[in-house]
Amino acid sequence: MFGFSIGKILLTAVVIAAVWFVAKSIGGRNRMAAKGNAATPKQPADDQVEDLVACPICGAYGEAGAAACDRADCPRDSASA
Ligand SMILES: [Zn+2]
Repeated sequence: MFGFSIGKILLTAVVIAAVWFVAKSIGGRNRMAAKGNAATPKQPADDQVEDLVACPICGAYGEAGAAACDRADCPRDSASA
């Protein structure tokens, strides 16, 4: 008599197929996750950059709402106060 039967061979084949399928599924999921991480680049944390505006009188650079300089005729001071 043989030491194995058709049923045992089929069972072994099914187990091997199941293990292969699970391994392939896990591998594909990991590959997709890695791809997703690579496809989403890191957003720049600081995207609120204001352009500096030069004062037409004193020439000092500053934000649009920056405080006025020492000169009395600075337009920034007159605009805010
Ligand atoms: Zn000024």
